[in-house]
Amino acid sequence: MPELPEVEALTAFLREHAVGRVVTRVDLAAVQAIKTFDPPLSALGGLELTGVARHGKFLDLDVSGLHLVVHLARAGWLHWRTGLPTAPPKPGKGPLALRVHLDSQDGTPPDGFDLTEQGTRKGLAVYVVRSPAEVPGVARLGPDALEVDRDAFVALLAGRSGQLKGALTDQTLIAGIGNAYSDEILHAARLSPFKMADKLTDDEALRLYDAMRATLAEALERQVGQRAATMKGEKRSGLQVHARTGLPCPVCGDTVREVSFADTSLQYCPTCQTGGKPLADRRMSKLLR
Ligand SMILES: [Zn+2]
Repeated sequence: MPELPEVEALTAFLREHAVGRVVTRVDLAAVQAIKTFDPPLSALGGLELTGVARHGKFLDLDVSGLHLVVHLARAGWLHWRTGLPTAPPKPGKGPLALRVHLDSQDGTPPDGFDLTEQGTRKGLAVYVVRSPAEVPGVARLGPDALEVDRDAFVALLAGRSGQLKGALTDQTLIAGIGNAYSDEILHAARLSPFKMADKLTDDEALRLYDAMRATLAEALERQVGQRAATMKGEKRSGLQVHARTGLPCPVCGDTVREVSFADTSLQYCPTCQTGGKPLADRRMSKLLR
């Protein structure tokens, strides 16, 4: 799932390649992706793309005062395309959700980008609004993980009941962190994902803050400047525990373990994070009973 570093990198990429160009047409291929109807998608046609911003994990394209806001969800991505086909795509076929055509420059074929989503569970969402705050998910966002200061972060956690994994991934508490980077941040902070957010010592809370900043900064450094197509691979190569179940922890050599939930899972290192004790995995224990 694209999280803060990937969306920030896409933002930087689009600023460099798309800002200043005119949106000539927008093709909708996945009808369920569009969540607004006024203004219509067609209102973007003929307008210049004047800016790109990120709000948490949302991408916000400012098209001369109208905003095309995108949430890539779990399996969505943005693919930069050169020489886009002029024929409209067939709706409902394949991973394509939305295609944005930009005007040609210096006589080259028109460029643009595709928003795609793999898999059968579709969550990619697109909004056309006059202000990004009209998107409910944007309006509810907590402070951005890259911008929140140390004291505010510590206060947010202290006021939060529930486990750290849930707190870090709650966009209304802190914006931008999802399943992958929360695993990475907790590993770097040497904290259990099941530890209660409001039970952290000052030292632990500061360690978590520093781990959050360092993990996101490293990921950003790897990704910004990458071509949009190669970013996902870069994300994988930088991970220490996320999606590495059964592999050795790069820090201590212990085996990375997993806890599974109904539709997601988390990974952690017992030696680094839980005093060597494996966490209970309800699904596994059900299977073994
Ligand atoms: Zn370890």
